[in-house]
Amino acid sequence: MPETATRPSNGFAKFDLHPNLMRGIQNAGFESPRPIQAATLPAALEGSDILGLAQTGTGKTAGFAIPILERIVRDPGHGPTALILAPTRELASQIADEIRTLASCTRIKGVTIYGGVGQRPQVAGLRQRPDIIVACPGRLLDLIGQGFVKLGNIQTLVLDEADHMFDMGFLVSIRKIIGHLPRKRQNLLFSATMPKEIRKLADDMLNDPTVVELPSTKPVDLIEQVVYPVHHRRKVRLAQYLLKNDDVSRAIIFTRTKRGAKALADKLERAKFNAAALQGNMSQNAREKVMSGFKSGKYDILVATDIAARGIDVSKVSHVINYDVPDTPEAYTHRIGRTGRAECTGKACTFITTEDRQILRAIERRIDQEIPQRIIEEFLQCDDPDPRSRPQRQQRRGAKSGGRNKVQNGRKPAAKKPQAKPTKKKSDSNDGRQAAAKKKPTQTDKAKRPTRKPKSVAKTTTGGNRPPRRRKQSAAGGGAPKRRSR
Ligand code: AMP
Repeated sequence: MPETATRPSNGFAKFDLHPNLMRGIQNAGFESPRPIQAATLPAALEGSDILGLAQTGTGKTAGFAIPILERIVRDPGHGPTALILAPTRELASQIADEIRTLASCTRIKGVTIYGGVGQRPQVAGLRQRPDIIVACPGRLLDLIGQGFVKLGNIQTLVLDEADHMFDMGFLVSIRKIIGHLPRKRQNLLFSATMPKEIRKLADDMLNDPTVVELPSTKPVDLIEQVVYPVHHRRKVRLAQYLLKNDDVSRAIIFTRTKRGAKALADKLERAKFNAAALQGNMSQNAREKVMSGFKSGKYDILVATDIAARGIDVSKVSHVINYDVPDTPEAYTHRIGRTGRAECTGKACTFITTEDRQILRAIERRIDQEIPQRIIEEFLQCDDPDPRSRPQRQQRRGAKSGGRNKVQNGRKPAAKKPQAKPTKKKSDSNDGRQAAAKKKPTQTDKAKRPTRKPKSVAKTTTGGNRPPRRRKQSAAGGGAPKRRSR
């Protein structure tokens, strides 16, 4: 083995890997195996099935890629012999990139298959008999249906982020794909969490697996977590405040909806932040442009939905901001795992409105710790007239429909409110900067309207544009008195 390939300082030397693969590992800059790799490699190199309970950021890609590459580099030319399934295009591209680096000193070829782009280059890639296919299930199944993919030689199947694939409704597709594979093969399944459907899939497909569980399925110690209670109409300003004042070098801001991501990115851009949105409605080209812009530093701030951001590995993300609280504790751990990566520290800031208390408690139970709260008075309350509500709209509606209140989404529009008599629209949802410039919630202002405080809190919980799920939540379980508590 050439000396360059096995420098004593390289902790991968003990796995006795092919020299060309060792060079690739060095090209990737890996000096010693991460815990997940140290635990996975010996068993995977022997051909065992693996059940890995680990999230992205732990180094699991190399944990499954190195054994695959080692097998192929020692016995090349029967491709494709490895199939790696991932839930999103971003994750598939990331896996393919890492494999490309690790395989840079070999002749191993790969192809990446995902939807949202033309299939022709992918079909051309498949025709060249790649050794490894990295794919999202939907497009792969499509191409299998069209007869472009031959999976009869697959020796290793990897399911990456299996829980996320389940969330995205891919389980049926995955089972169909598995039906096209030889029965005798090695299976490596990685998942951050183990919902019962994934447990069942693991039971069905894994053969006496080596189970590798990392404690870091809980948020890593390197991440400082903070909760910011906020009035829902002060979120934009709070985001801007943190971006300006919290030593942010690179941030990912999570919103619940695609529209929300775009709207917030636009507002931040107008406020002169280098922000870009990443959400599922964008074309693949646009998404790739944004991702490479974020990686290269063209943008410091990525405003993203969960689906778009899952699995993204960008180093030196100093902050994750949960602008909208995640729907599940699992999503929380995934999101905050975007920071504190590669042994850097990071901070996860979560905005909590009065409606979000319940999910916050679930998150804290899950991570087994109470997240400290930081209260900044000026973001707790909002006395501005709500621009989304409606006197003007109601008047218009009234004019058209003879003044009858229509029931929308099972809810009557807010009654004509005596207080909703805004002199001017001070649009919070328009541009927080302008609104902040025009009117700051000074102590004097608050003192002027002490009686409106409970009303504005109540408005938060029944606000016009809330998604139905949240309305249900607030209706359930007698949450209202608690909401008033803060
Ligand atoms: P992953 O969980 O596979 O997405 O990996 C997270 C990040 O860790 C990626 O940027 C990898 O390139 C990096 N990484 C993986 N293994 C190692 C290692 N042994 N040493 C240093 N960095 C690593």
